[in-house]
Amino acid sequence: MPLDATNGGEADLNSLDCFACLLREHRSTIAFTGAGISTESGIPDFRSPGGFWSRNTPIDFREFVASRAARVRFWKQRMAMYRDYQHAQPNDGHRALAQLEQMGKLTAVITQNIDGLHQIAGSRRVIELHGTARMVACIGCGKEWTPQEVHARIESGDEAPDCDDCGQPLKSKTISFGQPMPAAEMNEASRLATQADLCLVLGSSLVVEPAASIPRLAKQHGAKLVIINREPTPLDYAADLLVREPIGETMCAAVSQFCCSRPPQASVDSG
Ligand code: NAD
Repeated sequence: MPLDATNGGEADLNSLDCFACLLREHRSTIAFTGAGISTESGIPDFRSPGGFWSRNTPIDFREFVASRAARVRFWKQRMAMYRDYQHAQPNDGHRALAQLEQMGKLTAVITQNIDGLHQIAGSRRVIELHGTARMVACIGCGKEWTPQEVHARIESGDEAPDCDDCGQPLKSKTISFGQPMPAAEMNEASRLATQADLCLVLGSSLVVEPAASIPRLAKQHGAKLVIINREPTPLDYAADLLVREPIGETMCAAVSQFCCSRPPQASVDSG
């Protein structure tokens, strides 16, 4: 049975103790994050009520390639989404992960997010499974553009911009439904999952495959599993610790608890 912190108003002391203890006792921790870690930065997730997919229909990659009308819809969606990302700042959840990495307690962040907030918070090893919204590329030759350059073209009337070198469509460097996953990132994430002894899942509904297979793989290879998510996920049954509370305050409290409870670091002997 997982230790379940789903009843009270906040993650209770038992669950924070347990979380701090897991951090202390495990040497190879990975974090798997989803849209839920960025809601406290003002970026809506996709599946919560009022989330992005309740207001928009996803555009499949094959449709994007085949139809100019689909590309026009794609760019309308992307520009609205980018407005959320552009000025967003990392929150306590992102910062807690960066802090754990700096303390040598976190090997990598494996993220489904495309907002770049982990890197802005200071995380150095970030594996982006679904690409990034902070760059645009030609789907033919790969030439890269900033979103601002592409948005300027759209605003001046070019509603579905093509590459000025090869004429193929431009697309944000995100992975759409129907588009192959980035092989190098998936391989690296799978490798880290098989080697991890602790896997933290933060803010993911765990329904988007194959990304959601990463925490499953970690668990199958013996890692302990901590899930912090407001709503139930299909992997809750396998969690060693389940917290249904806001990520920012939970992570902040767990990292402080961990810092207070760990033995003092040996000081450098300069003699
Ligand atoms: P999702 O929208 O399917 O699930 C998010 C989960 O986070 C929900 O179950 C929700 O209950 C939980 N949640 C939201 N805020 C929370 C909080 N403050 N504390 C605790 N839990 C919270 O997200 P997903 O699983 O990442 O899958 C959606 C896909 O959408 C991903 O592939 C991702 O690429 C993309 N996406 C990314 C962003 C982003 O980059 N910020 C935003 C929206 C969607």
